[in-house]
Amino acid sequence: MNEQFIMAGVMGWPVAHSRSPLIHNHWIKKYQLSGAYGRFPVEPKNLEAAIRGLSALGLAGCNITIPHKVEAMQYMDWVDPHAQKIGAINTVVVQANGTRHGYNNDGFGYLQSLKEAHAQWRADTGPVVVLGAGGAARAILVALLQEGATEIRLLNRTLDKAQALAQEFGPSIQALPWSQRHEALAQAALLINTTNQGMHGTPALDLALDELPTTAMVSDIIYTPLVTPLLEQARQRGNTTVNGLGMLIHQARPAFEAWFGIKPAATSEISDLLIASL
Ligand code: NAP
Repeated sequence: MNEQFIMAGVMGWPVAHSRSPLIHNHWIKKYQLSGAYGRFPVEPKNLEAAIRGLSALGLAGCNITIPHKVEAMQYMDWVDPHAQKIGAINTVVVQANGTRHGYNNDGFGYLQSLKEAHAQWRADTGPVVVLGAGGAARAILVALLQEGATEIRLLNRTLDKAQALAQEFGPSIQALPWSQRHEALAQAALLINTTNQGMHGTPALDLALDELPTTAMVSDIIYTPLVTPLLEQARQRGNTTVNGLGMLIHQARPAFEAWFGIKPAATSEISDLLIASL
């Protein structure tokens, strides 16, 4: 057993639904570390005090989840350039001198989940279609661009938001009206759903896959349910599918390494734990 007791957690409001404690506490046990990872329900009005309190309490850091990912940035002493580009953080690492560094590992987690499903996957093999322009889409777009994607078709119910992202992130992103989502699938190598459509309690994504090549990968970042109607539809016509569980697990790995000093493995044990909790 390691002598030092290391504490971390997740700040959100509400935060009871967060699966992060399952992941991190599993690794703490697996690697026989002395530490704990908790849930911190922090109301928006208390965010600054809570973040400033991290070092006072001796915590190694925390994850930041909805609705604090954007607000939390201003309380960092340093923000990683990748997170700056996304405009949000999901991880705080408290340094030895008490200062706070902010990171965003959502895009990393997403790319890892694709590579896990298809080791030879490359971002520049063909057009990528991204549905949705919310917080998760921002992280995924920045990661895809850094990975070398050259043609991204971005479609969002509210066109303005897609146009604003295309303007901000450059000419590799083409914003298209939501009504064109069916035809936009032609020649695509990868389709990504980042909307909430298909999640438990919401209707299925309204999308006809006829134009999508059967060689394209289809990814849905939703993980409740694990197989969304979109993934079921894609699977039936022979497309390779990737669900949202891998993104959730892989985004946790760099944070755990920064706090606990061990590169954790994304094993089937964790997937099983998470699936049992869904
Ligand atoms: P968000 O910022 O609220 O964005 C929601 C997106 O869904 C927006 O683009 C929105 O379009 C679109 N949308 C909502 N209702 C719609 C409808 N009826 N028809 C078409 N589009 C609709 O949410 P987020 O944080 O990006 O999260 C999006 C999803 O990703 C959630 O299901 C979340 O659980 C999942 N997620 C998974 C992971 C993971 O680790 N696997 C991580 C983060 C998020 P408008 O702009 O028009 O409103």
